[in-house]
Amino acid sequence: MSSQSSRAVAAPPPNGNVFSLGVASGAPRHDSMVLWTRLAPQPLAEDGHGGMSLDPVTVHWEVCADPDFRGRSFRGKALAQPELAHSVHPKVTGLDPQTEYWYRFRVGRTTSPVGRFRTLPAPGSSPESFSFATTTCQAWYHGHYAVQRHIAAEKELDLVFFLGDYIYEYGINAGNHWREGSTVTDAHRYETETLEQYRLRYSLTKSDPNLQALHARCAAVVTWDDHEVQNDYARHTSAYGIPAELFVHRIAVAYRAFYENMPIDVTALPEGTAADLTDELEIGDLASFSVLDTRQFRDPKPVDLEEQYRPDRTMLGTEQEAWVTRRLAASKATWNVLANGITVSRITENRVDQWDGYPAARQRLLDAMAASRNCVVLTGDTHRHTASELRRNFDDPTVEGNVGVELICSSATSDGDGAPTDNLAKDWLQHDWVKMYDGRRGYVHVRLDRQQMQSTYLVVDWVRADDRAPRVVRARFTTPAGDPRLIEA
Ligand code: FE
Ligand code: CA
Repeated sequence: MSSQSSRAVAAPPPNGNVFSLGVASGAPRHDSMVLWTRLAPQPLAEDGHGGMSLDPVTVHWEVCADPDFRGRSFRGKALAQPELAHSVHPKVTGLDPQTEYWYRFRVGRTTSPVGRFRTLPAPGSSPESFSFATTTCQAWYHGHYAVQRHIAAEKELDLVFFLGDYIYEYGINAGNHWREGSTVTDAHRYETETLEQYRLRYSLTKSDPNLQALHARCAAVVTWDDHEVQNDYARHTSAYGIPAELFVHRIAVAYRAFYENMPIDVTALPEGTAADLTDELEIGDLASFSVLDTRQFRDPKPVDLEEQYRPDRTMLGTEQEAWVTRRLAASKATWNVLANGITVSRITENRVDQWDGYPAARQRLLDAMAASRNCVVLTGDTHRHTASELRRNFDDPTVEGNVGVELICSSATSDGDGAPTDNLAKDWLQHDWVKMYDGRRGYVHVRLDRQQMQSTYLVVDWVRADDRAPRVVRARFTTPAGDPRLIEA
C-alpha cells in the first residue's frame, strides 16, 4: 500500500455533492471505455479547487449492462488526487461489443448520477448503421445549452463529437455575459491564464445540467480548437503577442485542465506542451474515424500571401499528416470520417486561421482523401451551419472532382442567438460547392449506413433567454455511398 492510498482511507469523505460536475464516458472501443468524473462539492469555489482539500479520495465505479445495476457488473476504484483536480479516468475493459452499458461512481455514501454508453461494434463485423451528433463552441456566457439538451434527447445516438471550443478563455463581463438569469462572481472577470482559472472555467461550463445530461447520454469524442488555450493561437505562438516563454506555460496548464475535465484516456495526458489527442475509432467495416488535432502542430499565421502559399506550410505537423494519410489509404471501411476543428473547404484566402490559411497542406489532405473513399469531414469553429462538397481542385467546376463532403456545425451558444442569414453568408454562398448557410445555433445529426449518409442540420431560434427553444430541422442531406455529394431532401 502506498502512503497515498492510506491517506485516502484516513481522509473523511468531503461534504456536499461531490458529483456536481456530472459524469462522462469517452475513448470508445468495442471492448473498453474510459469513465470520467471530477469531485467538486463547491464547483465554483473561486480558488479553482472545487471545494476539495488536498487529500486524495477513493472513488468507486461500477458498470453494468442493466440500468438498475442488477446482474454482472464491472467494478473498480480510482484515486482522485488534487494534482489532477480530483478527476478520475478509469478505463473499464472486457466489455461486449455494440452493447449498451450504464455506469455510476460512489464516494463514501454519495452515489453519482447514472451515465450510459454504447460500445463500438466488433472488428470484422458489418453493422447496419451508426449514428452520432456533432457540437462545438459552447461559450457558457453567450447562452443557455438548449442545443445540448436536444442532443441528449436524440433517440438514435451512438456518440457525440465535441469539435472544439468546449470552453472559452475570455473574461466574463457586462459586455459578453448574455446568458440571461445567470450571475458569476468576480473570479470569472479575467481571461484564464493559470491552471486554477482554467479549472474554474471548466467547472462553470460543466455545472450546466444540459451539458451533464448530454455526457450522461452517450460517450463523447473530443478534440480541441483554440479557445481551450487562447483565441487563434498556433503551436506555441500567441496571436496576442504573449512572449513564447510565458505562453508555453499557459499552453501547458490549459492542456492539463482539458485532460482533467474530459473523458479521455491517460494516453492523452499532456507532458508540458505535448499532448496526443488523435484517436482512431473503427465501426466494424462500416466506418473509420480519425480524430485530428488542428491546433497543436500548425505553423503560425502567415505574414503575407507568399508565406501563405508556401508548399512546406503545415496544419497537422509531419507525423500527424503521415498518420491520417496512411489511415485514409489503408481503410477498407465504407465511410472515412475526419473529426477536425476548422473549415477545410475553400471560402476566402483572408481566413488565415482556417485551412484557407494553409492551402498547400489542404491540398495534401484533399489528395489523401482522393486516395480513399466516401470521406466525410466533421468541422466546428465558424459559429455557422454550413455544408460543403470537397473538391480535389476547387477551380474544377465538375462534381466528378469531389473527394468528400464537409459538415460544418454551428456553435451551441457562441455568438448568441444568431439569425438565419447575416453579413458573412455571401462569402460562403458565392461558391457552388457550399450547399447551405444558417447563422443560428444548432447541431448536426448524422446517420451512416451501407448505402448512404443522412446528415440533419438542426437549429434553435434562441439561446440567450433560456434553454427552452424548440429544435427545428434546417436541412437534411443525403450522401450516397460512392457519390460524394450533398443532395438536399
Ligand atoms: Fe468558437
Ligand atoms: Ca475557434
